[in-house]
Amino acid sequence: MKLEKVLIVDPIKGEFTGDVEIEGKKITKVSVKDYYSYDNIVMPGFVDVHTHGQKGINVMDASSEDFKKWAENNFSYGVTSFIPSTVSASKDQILKVLENSKDVGLSIEGIHLEGPFISLEKKGAQNPQYIRKPTIEELEEIITEQVKLITMAPEVENFFDVIDYLKEKNVVISLGHTNADFNLFKKAFQSGINRITHFSNALTPLHHRNIGGTGSALYLDFHLEMICDGIHLSREFVDLTYQIKGSDKIILITDSFEGAALEDGHYKLGGLDVTVKDAKAFLADGTIASSTLVFNEGVKNFKKFTNCSLQELAKVSSYNALRNLNILNKGRIETGYVANLVILDKNLDLVQTIFEGRRVF
Ligand code: FE
Repeated sequence: MKLEKVLIVDPIKGEFTGDVEIEGKKITKVSVKDYYSYDNIVMPGFVDVHTHGQKGINVMDASSEDFKKWAENNFSYGVTSFIPSTVSASKDQILKVLENSKDVGLSIEGIHLEGPFISLEKKGAQNPQYIRKPTIEELEEIITEQVKLITMAPEVENFFDVIDYLKEKNVVISLGHTNADFNLFKKAFQSGINRITHFSNALTPLHHRNIGGTGSALYLDFHLEMICDGIHLSREFVDLTYQIKGSDKIILITDSFEGAALEDGHYKLGGLDVTVKDAKAFLADGTIASSTLVFNEGVKNFKKFTNCSLQELAKVSSYNALRNLNILNKGRIETGYVANLVILDKNLDLVQTIFEGRRVF
């Protein structure tokens, strides 16, 4: 397959016109050519490392057929790698998700455990019934090879006793759903933890005499997940974060749930009732619950909110998430990389998705 006369956007080399050749699953040649005009933009396929479901599929009760369908739906939003994310649940429920997603393959890169080892005070839309402290005994059961990412609060009992175990298992730890103050964030950062879950939701706010979780995330060299649906974060906050952190430290996510890409109505999240109205998902008490965002809309929003370059957009929508999880063979338009690509028009609307060298949308 050859993509000709396109604007190539690579997160490292930047933007240039040329052709991309693909053989089998890989990019075999990238040629720079001075075309006077181009119709389409080629970027690395999008990566969503925090998503609980979409289109009626809920991670917690998805069958292996549902995971497959989810991966296929995701191609229509440009997503070529994703990490289904659990919510706080019993050990058996988590094991069931691991079992059902095990051999699906496709664009599933692993599982993100969001909870259950988080703060009750900052539970957000997580079911408090299941929130608990981590123990090595439980981790030995639930940390299988599939688990790539875990969101935990550093103030939960045992947190600092289990991080070495998780690192040994190559699980990336992300701080989230936490009431922790600067000192605890700093201690966690110094222990090698370098990312924050859905910044700045479920963190304490920034006060000028106590910078809280929000200030700690900005001040220390953390990577930040961000939900750019215009609901979880105001556009000014997204732009402010971009101006402070730059495009190397931001990871776009959807945090979507089963109500995403469906009509307004009543849905479930981790056993809790969620209402969707005007694309906003919330619990009965008004707490924002998950999102109805699809990935390519979040990408367009980030561009609109920050006016970043396309090269920067390729970082926040793909490259940063992959590098943070130590996935090194994807996320670039470069010879030898896996041919996971999106083709966009000049309005950044999705025209095609290519997954492992095949047109899948
Ligand atoms: Fe969350």
